[in-house]
Amino acid sequence: MHLPLQQLTGLLAIATSACALAGPHEHGVAHLNLAIEAQSLEIAVKVPLESLLGYERAPRSDAEKREAAALLERFKKTQPVLALPAHCKEVAPAQVKAPLIEGQAGSAHGDLEAVYKLQCTQTSDWREIDVTLFDVARRISRVKAQIAGPQGQTQSVLRRNKRQLKIGR
Ligand SMILES: [Zn+2]
Repeated sequence: MHLPLQQLTGLLAIATSACALAGPHEHGVAHLNLAIEAQSLEIAVKVPLESLLGYERAPRSDAEKREAAALLERFKKTQPVLALPAHCKEVAPAQVKAPLIEGQAGSAHGDLEAVYKLQCTQTSDWREIDVTLFDVARRISRVKAQIAGPQGQTQSVLRRNKRQLKIGR
């Protein structure tokens, strides 16, 4: 396959963007991508619905419908993924999608995916960030994180008893 260079670099850019969440659908495991720049941060997260709701299908009863709506609202309102300094401001509306509980037909499995864009000052001072997603997704046992920052790319696996994400050196 021969692609013009321009098209090829375009593809590479997509592959390394925080939005490109790799990783298989695995109950109990969330995927987190962070793209950190000097004054900004992009968070992309993918969580199996089973780990958020305890089931993976369209909501049936009124109680389940309310619960699913509240879940979507929770992720749209403000990012629940990381404990960030108060000065970090979301600069774009959160992009949240979970087709299985939003009335769209889906397969046997489904995820909630969310992307947040924030502006922060002095991200270079950051050393560790607490992953608060564990509080929202109570059935999550691991968060597989990928960080792309000024110092390159790092990967780590967070657990309930080890939920400090290391940033920088
Ligand atoms: Zn599933």
